[in-house]
Amino acid sequence: MIIATDMPEVARCAVNQCAFNSDDACHARAITIGEGSDPDCDTFFDNSHHTHSSRTAGVGACKMTDCSHNEDLECSAESIQVGKSGDSVECLTYNTRH
Ligand code: SF4
Ligand code: SF4
Repeated sequence: MIIATDMPEVARCAVNQCAFNSDDACHARAITIGEGSDPDCDTFFDNSHHTHSSRTAGVGACKMTDCSHNEDLECSAESIQVGKSGDSVECLTYNTRH
């Protein structure tokens, strides 16, 4: 079994109402980005319960194949930032391939 340990870090997430967020950081083990045509955070969970974990999340998977950082459905960026874009919660590091 191969265990991934080299995931890009979620360097910052400004979405404080998410259950995985505290101190502007994401503390899930790994998040998934991309649903539909926008780079939404699929792991976003609007809940009053907040994790007590101190770990920093990695990007486990990303469905945005049109992002320049996407390689074979994984993120190859050094790190990403997540935040609000209009009403949605999105990867702000998303960069459309030209
Ligand atoms: S990156 Fe996603 S799962 Fe993590 S705190 Fe932000 S919205 Fe929540
Ligand atoms: S930077 Fe691109 S490949 Fe990485 S998580 Fe964001 S949208 Fe996906």
